[in-house]
Amino acid sequence: MTYNVGQVFTVVGIDYTHDGLGVAKIDGHTIFVQGLIIGEEAEVEIVMVKKNFLVGKIKKIVVISPDRIKPLCPVATACGGCQFHHLSYEKELDYKKNKVLRAFHNIAHLDLEADEVIGSDVPYYYRNKIIMPIAYDKRKNLIHGFYRYRSHDIVAIEECFIEDKRSAPIIHTIKNLMKEFAYEPYDETTLKGDIRKIMLRTSYYYPDIMVVLITKHGNLEAFSQFTKQLLAAHPEITTLIQNINGDDTNVVLGQQENIIFGPGKIRDKLLGLEFSISSKSFYQVNVLQTEKLYQKAIELAKLNQNDIILDAYSGIGTIGLSAAKYVKQVIGVEVVKQAVRDAKENAKINHVNNVVFFEDDASDFIEKLEERKQKIDAVFVDPPRKGLDERFIQSLNNLRPERIVYISCDPATLARDVALFIAHYQVSKLVVVDMFSRTYHVESIVLLTRREQ
Ligand code: SAH
Repeated sequence: MTYNVGQVFTVVGIDYTHDGLGVAKIDGHTIFVQGLIIGEEAEVEIVMVKKNFLVGKIKKIVVISPDRIKPLCPVATACGGCQFHHLSYEKELDYKKNKVLRAFHNIAHLDLEADEVIGSDVPYYYRNKIIMPIAYDKRKNLIHGFYRYRSHDIVAIEECFIEDKRSAPIIHTIKNLMKEFAYEPYDETTLKGDIRKIMLRTSYYYPDIMVVLITKHGNLEAFSQFTKQLLAAHPEITTLIQNINGDDTNVVLGQQENIIFGPGKIRDKLLGLEFSISSKSFYQVNVLQTEKLYQKAIELAKLNQNDIILDAYSGIGTIGLSAAKYVKQVIGVEVVKQAVRDAKENAKINHVNNVVFFEDDASDFIEKLEERKQKIDAVFVDPPRKGLDERFIQSLNNLRPERIVYISCDPATLARDVALFIAHYQVSKLVVVDMFSRTYHVESIVLLTRREQ
């Protein structure tokens, strides 16, 4: 049978994809439906026909799941930012656990159990880093929001329910000032405009708020007046930065930055330590869950006072500094210059003397450690989504630390990498942590312990 856009079928939710869509079947053909819960029966309209699958949109739910809840967010289904506003949080955690186990089964051929799933007490309003594109809608109103699933159309929002509540009023003021000053939003098709995106970084433990105005160029008319008015309207902004990004790519921040007001950084705390954070440094987006993540990672590493440990992909040094009091020496490595600078400053602020941070590519660095036969007892690795490369894994296998704690925000690359350690290491623990509530993203921690050889 051939399928056409616009046809309507009654289907039953049987599964979820790795990116949080509902899965159903029509005569054996797979259809993906955003917002469809397992067990629900719904009339869906086909909106896309592909060779191997269909995409549908719910028209009417015929049998409603007991796991369905009323979304806080009015654009939950249209917006690609979140996937689970309509699902009970308990079921979201189940989904996340299963997603990780499935990745290990399919990719690493390992059938694991999760030792623990660490949920959030408040799965809303947690994000401390907000990046908002601003654009015109069809009627030339200025809108801000997230992209629709797999597109670059912005779904307009008033507020976002997973972001720090302090961000929305500031974004609204910036849009109003853009109108007043006739600043054009950056247009991704004509590649023209003045303001590209707004980035905000808020502190959990301090009142600090950083606003970064990402502009296409450095010649905005009356820009100092614009920023003065913004700061006057929002005295809660503790630092304001202009970032100039002239490149026509998806990269958010450009090279050049001007600090307009304040120190150009914010402060925050994790596990009682204080951290200074610049605009370009990585910082975990959910502070309360990060504290649980680090605590668990440190517990799993079974650190002791004679240990020399490596914090690979160390960012601003948060894991290494949190672990430092339990060990003899911490060695950190990170590739972003500003982050390494922050990490060194953070060691000073917290009077931690047994850490050293290096600016280097993690794989190059670990090869150097291998060459000089550096003794390493335990390793924390926390790479970006793309995971580790084979060079890194090989050198780490050769360095033979007793314990490796792998923290990952992508179960697929985690499973792929763990498979390459398995000849020398066994998976002793797997913990799933919800850092990104209401979205399909999931964080996990794996403890690898060296096999006796
Ligand atoms: N452990 C930190 C940072 C984790 S995010 C924390 O919990 O906050 C991953 C970090 O890896 C980022 O800071 C990123 O800049 C860094 N990174 C990315 N590629 C890298 C590479 N090739 N070598 C070293 N660090 C890298």
